[in-house]
Amino acid sequence: MDASPTAGLPHVVILGGGFGGLSAARALGKAPVRITLIDRRNHHLFQPLLYQVATAALNPSDIASPIRRILRRQKNVSVILGEATAIESAKKIVQLADGEVAYDFLILAAGATHSYFGHDEWMDAAPGLKTLEDAVEIRRRVLVAYEAAEREVDQRRIADWMTFVIIGAGPTGVEMAGALAEISRRVLERDFRRIQPGRARIVLIEAGPRVLPAMSAESSASAVRQLERIGVEVITGSAVTGVDGNGVTHAAGRIDARTVIWAAGVAASPLGKTLGAPVDRAGRVLVNHDLSVPGADSVFVIGDLAAISYEGKPVPGVSPAAIQEGSCAAANITRMVRGEPPSAFRYRDKGTLATIGRAAAVADLGRLHLRGLVAWLTWLLVHIFYLIGFRNRFLVISEWAWMYLWNERGARLITGDVEPLLERGERPEDRKRMLSP
Ligand SMILES: Cc1cc2nc3c(=O)[nH]c(=O)nc-3n(C[C@H](O)[C@H](O)[C@H](O)COP(=O)(O)OP(=O)(O)OC[C@H]3O[C@@H](n4cnc5c(N)ncnc54)[C@H](O)[C@@H]3O)c2cc1C
Repeated sequence: MDASPTAGLPHVVILGGGFGGLSAARALGKAPVRITLIDRRNHHLFQPLLYQVATAALNPSDIASPIRRILRRQKNVSVILGEATAIESAKKIVQLADGEVAYDFLILAAGATHSYFGHDEWMDAAPGLKTLEDAVEIRRRVLVAYEAAEREVDQRRIADWMTFVIIGAGPTGVEMAGALAEISRRVLERDFRRIQPGRARIVLIEAGPRVLPAMSAESSASAVRQLERIGVEVITGSAVTGVDGNGVTHAAGRIDARTVIWAAGVAASPLGKTLGAPVDRAGRVLVNHDLSVPGADSVFVIGDLAAISYEGKPVPGVSPAAIQEGSCAAANITRMVRGEPPSAFRYRDKGTLATIGRAAAVADLGRLHLRGLVAWLTWLLVHIFYLIGFRNRFLVISEWAWMYLWNERGARLITGDVEPLLERGERPEDRKRMLSP
């Protein structure tokens, strides 16, 4: 017999411990329900700072916190490590890779992943940035590229190792390009003898007409100016048509590069489709105004996996939207438990920020467009405020202060096997030549 005080209460399953899922769990803290939060990772990840791990500014543990620890004081939640494979909404069951969990209410908050627009064969040559593993892999590739260039003798091949292409100029692409330029020009420049990392070529390429398409035209133009000031080459209006171990082909030409990063496409978690409800082109579930799923009123979909409009505009795939949707789904479940009808989701747009580098950023806050140092300070405050856990906040502030004062990067470690990266795209005879002094 289950003697816990929550036994017999309606069972809410929250699938995903990201921004949306955690917000829902917290908002249900005092509700008369028992909650099971399921995630395939044991940690909540602060994705907006992933690029700082990818460029060796922060350590992986600075931007992640165990979900179990975050929720340890909330007695009505159990956390389960598990991979969900499907939702059977007719039977009210979540299928896991190794079992199943029944629910009375489900909040589906499984987020999104990369989309290579039907070219999954590009994935190996151009990793995306979504998980801690992705960030560590990109960091490895960037640092190995400089090591390979340092021991190379052929000038053309040095240039290929010292060319970095970032595909997609949304916030992630812009932030990656800016941070790569900074680490090359300000940090690595002093550490090598034979190459000059400060002269690395960093190319940001975008198929659309401008960078940061979700921001104002003013902020987009300012971002290009700030990127160019730190030496990033920005190409817009040219779609990438091919990616391989030796570079990128795009509508307007070819760029030889040994390091390519994918920041272009997003696809919703495949779990959305298993609901059998209508989805949009990116696989996001077209939810009702109250975030419930058409035909399954005990299932709510939130965050990057939900497609919803508010006041005629699509709600963007950003963390404040996921957090607000998590609270709304929680409030609706609380109402339904009391026998009241759910209410419609209302989105409060808190603005958009993108950072480019040290004292360089853009921010659209309603009608206010900030740039440079003011925008950067705003970005800094917002990110520190939202980082979960005092320890993480403290560590991140101290790492940033150290970097700012001394132009140092504390997390410049190459982990894992280096050889396969050095060998990628190489002919054996070229490898031998490269290894000669
Ligand atoms: C590199 C990057 C930078 C970003 N920068 C910003 C920014 O600056 N500002 C901003 O507002 N937003 C930013 N975003 C977007 C923001 O992170 C997302 O909008 C937000 O994380 C969405 O929250 P979510 O809860 O829907 O999904 P997520 O936070 O992605 O959480 C989904 C959770 O579900 C779990 N999960 C997924 N599938 C399964 C499964 N099958 N079984 C079990 N668990 C599963 C995952 O492990 C994860 O914990 C950025 C995103 C990325 C990738």
